[in-house]
Amino acid sequence: MFGRFFSFLLFQFAAALAGWLIAPHGRPALGALVGVFSAGLLWVAFDLLRGFRVLGWLRRGDMSDAALSGGLWGEISERTRRLVRSREQQARDSELRLQEFLAALQASPNGVVLLDSQRRIEWFNQTAATHFGFDVQRDLLQHFGNLVRDPRFAAYYASHDYSRDVTFPGRGSKPNRPVTLSVHIHPYGKGRQLVLSRDVTALEQAEAMRRDFVANVSHEIRTPLTVLSGFVETLQTLPLEEPERERYLALMAQQAERMQILVNDLLMLSRLEGSPLPAADGWVSLSSLMQRLEEDARALSAVLCQASGGRAHALSFDVQDKLEIAGSSSELLSALSNLVSNAIRYTPCGGKVHASLQVLEGGRAEFAVTDSGPGIDAEHLPRLTERFYRVDRSRSRESGGTGLGLAIVKHVAQRHNAELMIESTPGRGSRFALIFPSGRWRQEHRRPEASQMASDQRVEITSTSLS
Ligand code: ADP
Repeated sequence: MFGRFFSFLLFQFAAALAGWLIAPHGRPALGALVGVFSAGLLWVAFDLLRGFRVLGWLRRGDMSDAALSGGLWGEISERTRRLVRSREQQARDSELRLQEFLAALQASPNGVVLLDSQRRIEWFNQTAATHFGFDVQRDLLQHFGNLVRDPRFAAYYASHDYSRDVTFPGRGSKPNRPVTLSVHIHPYGKGRQLVLSRDVTALEQAEAMRRDFVANVSHEIRTPLTVLSGFVETLQTLPLEEPERERYLALMAQQAERMQILVNDLLMLSRLEGSPLPAADGWVSLSSLMQRLEEDARALSAVLCQASGGRAHALSFDVQDKLEIAGSSSELLSALSNLVSNAIRYTPCGGKVHASLQVLEGGRAEFAVTDSGPGIDAEHLPRLTERFYRVDRSRSRESGGTGLGLAIVKHVAQRHNAELMIESTPGRGSRFALIFPSGRWRQEHRRPEASQMASDQRVEITSTSLS
């Protein structure tokens, strides 16, 4: 600034001197004055020119280069350029941060909707769009309350008490495919609101399943318990003859056994759900298991058919390939024995039950049980492995069923990477097969402890379902 002022003075002085020297005789002072004035005009004109160039440059807005170099206007343009570029950089950084923030909200598994102070939709993520059926083009700046019309939500929205969430059926919810949303509003800033939505269908279903399960277990236990306490009361109050007393005690033992079977199956299920997966390198000989299964199947058939006065079942057990399966012996035994005992229990006495073990074409191994029983209608097949699902309730109860057998089989199959295949034709019989992938079986290697293991397993089979 000082340099510029000094240059101006120097220029004026030079102009004054020039005026002084070239002025006519006797008028050097006037000449100097004219010189100073003309120099001043020239300086201002030149300055204006540079100022207009800077103005033009500002108007164009192209900040890639300074408008001028040097001088006051050069410095103004350079400083302006630097200021604008630094602001541009700041704006770019802010935009980037905003985009990253929105991308994080977009990646959220929850639906996020931002409402302005008039409760209009400012922004929402894709999950919220799915939950509420929003469309970016159509619904931005619409009032949120006009778009989500469920009465439970409307009451919550109007209450202004957002200390809890509200659940209501989500968009596209149907009786056969329900969708449940949980929505929670969080006020923030100056009258703004953040709406969080969660799909809680699976949670709700799990909760409903838990409630059903508790109700089912209570119901299953209550029946034998009621019978049992009735007999206890009779024994306590009535003076009974010995044969009658014995009959009552036998019936009580039967009910107690029924409860015990149920508790065993429940414990088995909870072990299957809660324990780590069985090791894939513990080998279980299925062919030895088949021998034990056959003995127990014959015993079960004899008990059931003697009681009803019928002929025992025609049983055949066919080990085509001697195989070992990698997994847990107690789990496999439980699954196979459930399939065999079901076939016997649901096939009328004198009917056929055939169990087989073989390697299939393609390298998978199959354990299958085929019976000539009543078969199962196709509509029941998808639900057979649900806990307590029974097609023939009375037959299941009469023959000591708990309604948990196939649920156990399904869990064991999953834990051994096996597939449970059920084929059935009403009136002609059923076929239940467990199919193990190629990496899960091998040809049997006889070991000295195999027979010991098989006899250990026999304890399981009798206690889980053939008893
Ligand atoms: P349960 O203990 O009642 O036998 P499961 O889970 O083992 O329970 O089987 C579920 C239902 O599937 C049974 O109640 C029965 O109605 C049907 N079921 C299972 N196996 C057979 C079969 N081999 N033949 C006909 N129905 C069967």
